[in-house]
Amino acid sequence: EAGGNGGALQRHLSRKLRATGAVTVAEYMREALTNPGQGYYTRRGGVGRDFVTSPEISQVFGELIGIWFISEWMATGKPKAFQLVELGPGRGTLTDDILRVFNQLASLLSKCDVSVHLVEVSPKLSETQALMLTGGKLQSGPEDKSAYMKGVSKTGIPISWYRDIQDVPPGYSFYLAHEFFDALPIHKFQRTERGWREVLVDIDPEVPDQLRFVLSPSSTPATENFIQPEERRDHVEVCPEAGVIIQRLACRIEKDGGAALVADYGHDGTKTDTFRGFRNHKHHDVLKAPGTADLTADVDFSFLRKMTQGRTATLGPIKQREFLKNMGIDLRLQVLLQNSHDTATQQQLLHSYDMLMNPKKMGDCFHFFALLPHHRLAQPDKKEKPESKSPVAPVAGFDELLLK
Ligand code: SAH
Repeated sequence: EAGGNGGALQRHLSRKLRATGAVTVAEYMREALTNPGQGYYTRRGGVGRDFVTSPEISQVFGELIGIWFISEWMATGKPKAFQLVELGPGRGTLTDDILRVFNQLASLLSKCDVSVHLVEVSPKLSETQALMLTGGKLQSGPEDKSAYMKGVSKTGIPISWYRDIQDVPPGYSFYLAHEFFDALPIHKFQRTERGWREVLVDIDPEVPDQLRFVLSPSSTPATENFIQPEERRDHVEVCPEAGVIIQRLACRIEKDGGAALVADYGHDGTKTDTFRGFRNHKHHDVLKAPGTADLTADVDFSFLRKMTQGRTATLGPIKQREFLKNMGIDLRLQVLLQNSHDTATQQQLLHSYDMLMNPKKMGDCFHFFALLPHHRLAQPDKKEKPESKSPVAPVAGFDELLLK
């Protein structure tokens, strides 16, 4: 089945490339991942099948993120309402784990109006999410046009689905993006003796229907716009769509308050070629059978920080194992181990803890990065309020970073 889909998209791309010539890696990646009929996320879904993500490994991951949002909500004076907005929710597991925590803390949240807003382009995955979160309680063709689907969570919280972050209503919100930014299309650039060139995808004239990388013959608008004059690397990847989305989140948080938590593999503007494919948990040639494999690139956190344009404060990136440790994962593991009575469950708990925390597994390569309103971190003027000792509550998970 998967091979057949790949064939269709490959033929579509070959026709297009023959007609228009080479395309940017970003255009290629967008087609391969989110082409409405044949894209990887649109048709195959992938999460669990081709790659495994932290929320799918352990419920503790989502629980600790839920606690992070509650902690921010409390630190900002418990506003009367908040929206939980997840970008690219995959199978819906992360939000499900977060909503379970919210339900356990129902007495704390009893006077707060909580709603969930999911930004998802894949019709296939939105169905999976709806099943996971609502158990099938859905309202088809909702009246307000911005949401394409609506439902109610198992715990009674309203959920809406959108294709674009711009469709999500404004208001005090907690934004969450786990393994979302790495799925957005990147441009690739190569330094040559004649200056920067953009990496493009075209058809190999020697081998019919086989795709290959080529360099643009001259500089392109993208090379002019995205390469900094002081750039030291020889190969650079830039994800303009990630920049646009971060800008939007920063504007929203500046205006309406809340926070954004971004968790992904990535670097701080130091890595070069990170574009890769996964299929059935194995590495996959990015140019082979587009639409049948997950394509991904490391997130450049320094670029995200830059794109907030100073509208919000940023924290991180901090390693996943440090963030989860600061959030109390060790204590949570102890409690779960004590509450489980068979050795198989205990083994499973220890195994998943190791997957998330081990520096050689997900502990070091995954990072957490946060956007917060400036006032959340600003130290009040000591002269005006000499009596206040430590009025700004520390930001959970990032404590150690702030102490440094
Ligand atoms: N957060 C989940 C899933 C990660 S996979 C997890 O950690 O398990 C990436 C998710 O982003 C998928 O749900 C995919 O369909 C969605 N996605 C990819 N490109 C998108 C885009 N441009 N807009 C909205 N969602 C997108």
